[in-house]
Amino acid sequence: MSPRFRHVGQFCLIATTGLLAVLIADEVHNTGTDRGWKQHDIHRPKPPVVEASGGTSSSSIPKDAVVLVDGKSLDAWQSKSGGPAGWKVADGVMEVTPGAGAIQTKGKFGDIQLHVEWASPNPTNGTGQDRGNSGIFLMGKYEIQVLDSYRAETYADGQAGAIYGQYPPLFNASRRPGEWQTYDIAFRRPRFDKAGKLIDPARVTLIHNGILVQNNESLLGLTYWLKWSPYEAHEDAAPIELQDHGHPVKFRNMWLRNLPERPAPSAKDLKRPEAVAMSEHDLDRFLGQYVLGTKENAPKVTVTRGRTHLLMKFPFLPQPLVIEPVSPLVFALPQTDGEFRFQEDSQGRVTGATFRIGDGERSLMKLPR
Ligand code: MG
Repeated sequence: MSPRFRHVGQFCLIATTGLLAVLIADEVHNTGTDRGWKQHDIHRPKPPVVEASGGTSSSSIPKDAVVLVDGKSLDAWQSKSGGPAGWKVADGVMEVTPGAGAIQTKGKFGDIQLHVEWASPNPTNGTGQDRGNSGIFLMGKYEIQVLDSYRAETYADGQAGAIYGQYPPLFNASRRPGEWQTYDIAFRRPRFDKAGKLIDPARVTLIHNGILVQNNESLLGLTYWLKWSPYEAHEDAAPIELQDHGHPVKFRNMWLRNLPERPAPSAKDLKRPEAVAMSEHDLDRFLGQYVLGTKENAPKVTVTRGRTHLLMKFPFLPQPLVIEPVSPLVFALPQTDGEFRFQEDSQGRVTGATFRIGDGERSLMKLPR
């Protein structure tokens, strides 16, 4: 090979290697962990232990709750293949039958408030992850760890109250093995666009025995042992799964409430009067002081002018409100459902206004300048 071709070859090799390095760096970056912690990092600080006082009462199940574990039947559950759920149920309690496999709800759920009570086996047995292990897989994909973490060591992102492999709980609020513990979970499912691209990650808030241990955490992706997995687009509702990790963990009083989506404005709601151009000269006739209402000591509102709009300074608001003209005598608040309808006398002098806002109308009287 001539020296010239050898140089070209070397250049191509360096360029390709550089590109590969960039791609690998991207891959590493795109599949990173929470602020650089390694998943299951044994050096990750353990959350402080806190003595929980939260009750385990089931007396306040909301009337509209979907009851999943009533301790009388397994009617709400099935095996992952759709057969009967092979766990035990008696005396108000459902219990993992080790080896029977995970069970999942027959119903499908998305955004939920979930309450569940659980108890680790007593006497305790095993260490680390092999100790009272189960899990609540929201949508069958995102595990809230269930584990005996009472004076028991494991990696922080795998202990009770962890979003498994991603976020340790803020506190270890675990009770002794055999004692009933509560989880109250607020779960917001991930949002995907029509092309399946993630637009909003799943979020979890968790209260363990009355102690907040997950504060609206954004999940990195699906929870797995060894390495979490990037999001894959899925349905808006999916069964909840309970894990059989080979330990006879007990559950009771499991219920949920479906959470609604906040309604988005319709096209009609978004159709609003457009601002009209008004000269500075025309705006000037609205300037001055107004009295809000008719009571004695009523607050005074000062109206000044911007280039294309008016500014209303209320004494009880730190910033003046911008109002834009939408017709010769009507000004609207751009971000608020409200408007000012000014009145004028027979000579065209502004005398006051009616101020409509959400809950009603007030009047403003213009003071003589
Ligand atoms: Mg588990």
